[in-house]
Amino acid sequence: MPWNDKIECMPESELRNFQLEKLRETVAWAYERVPFYKQKFDEKGVRPDNIRHIEDIAKLPFTVKNDLRDNYPFGLCAVPMSEVVRVHASSGTTGKPITGPYTRGDMDCWGECMARNLWSAGIRPGDIVQNAYGYGLFTGGLGFHEGISRIGCVELPTSSGLTLRQVTLMQDFKVTALCCTPSYALTIEEQADEMGIDIRNLPLRVGVFGAEPWTPGMRKEIEERMGIKAMEAYGLTEIGGPGVSFDCDAQEGLHINEDHYLAEVLDPDTLEPIPLGEKGELVFTSLQRRAMPMIRYRTKDITRLYRDKCSCGRTLIRMDKISGRTDDMLIISGVNVFPSQIESLLLDIPEVEPQYVLVVRKKGHLDHLTVRVEAKREVYDIGPDKEAEVEKKIQDHIKGMLGIAVTVRLVEPKLIQRSEGKAKRILDERPKS
Ligand code: ADP
Ligand code: ZN
Repeated sequence: MPWNDKIECMPESELRNFQLEKLRETVAWAYERVPFYKQKFDEKGVRPDNIRHIEDIAKLPFTVKNDLRDNYPFGLCAVPMSEVVRVHASSGTTGKPITGPYTRGDMDCWGECMARNLWSAGIRPGDIVQNAYGYGLFTGGLGFHEGISRIGCVELPTSSGLTLRQVTLMQDFKVTALCCTPSYALTIEEQADEMGIDIRNLPLRVGVFGAEPWTPGMRKEIEERMGIKAMEAYGLTEIGGPGVSFDCDAQEGLHINEDHYLAEVLDPDTLEPIPLGEKGELVFTSLQRRAMPMIRYRTKDITRLYRDKCSCGRTLIRMDKISGRTDDMLIISGVNVFPSQIESLLLDIPEVEPQYVLVVRKKGHLDHLTVRVEAKREVYDIGPDKEAEVEKKIQDHIKGMLGIAVTVRLVEPKLIQRSEGKAKRILDERPKS
């Protein structure tokens, strides 16, 4: 049974009506209270009362990350500061950070969305939940915190880092559920291994992982190494942090909390809608946020949506696991390649660890990719011939599957920097234009 079956299993037509009502409210709220939205609506010649059907959303302007930067820190805030109870921010790799303010009501919605996510992963009162997402301005830590408290299980707010202590507490407190990024889960497992602790023998049963891309192969790897079920969480600071979508027992896509987030998938070039089931850029409109309503936010995340019946009984629309971001796409020998494709191919090779970095350089006019991946100790124990053999094996596998020539360099165990949050897997050494 879902956390909130009334919403999560609501018949589609009822859900669509609910969404329309909330969309109209949100659009009016944004238009009347945020000068940025008023100006953008006016430029497009659209007014809130033009929204009569869900499809009318196509009349509305888009919002992009730069709009949030330009309006830093509170230009997009639709309520006075006296109604704001929390502000999160995402560091942003370049330029100013972006902020995410919340009202008390927004916090409440966040807790509800995260509770659905954790409940769907099988977390119940009595579970001891280690929350190793970073606490602080990052939405991960406190977002999960909100859901964990809502369910009423035992929370262990370890935040990220101090990995040795994470393992000790996991063992001593008999932790049953772990929340962190998938790459940090691997780091924790590796630390445990170094301490002679096999996590598979601990009571840990489930992990809820997200905030960064990870392939189905990586999920399998984590499940096997830790002896747990690895479930997923997806979200982004711009529209409220984690809790946007989550997977269920079927593990066939992530259910979107559609009463809070209206999803569209568009062609990233033409910005035209793409039929259900086909891949494109995910665009979200918030439906209940008050402090910072978000209209048609272009996430740059690539996925597809589908409404087929899910075996779990939820009617909430599903999105595929994110396969890449439009801004992470590499063009190698004329072929579009996403880092996730390389990750899944690396995970096919038993001689390597799931630790890698993709180095992109310019070679003439073309991009060239060097894959640095850690080989298992045994490979080095056998000697240089074995190393060369494994490098060639990976190169051939990538060539065979993607048709691109890449350079593969094996790296000694533990040389690639371990992640405590979002892993940095791409090293872009191309000259900045
Ligand atoms: P948060 O602080 O909630 O992680 P950020 O704004 O820092 O939000 O990052 C959001 C981005 O992280 C998303 O747009 C997406 O690219 C990525 N992301 C989050 N969750 C997942 C996930 N489960 N799978 C793939 N990518 C994800
Ligand atoms: Zn389901």
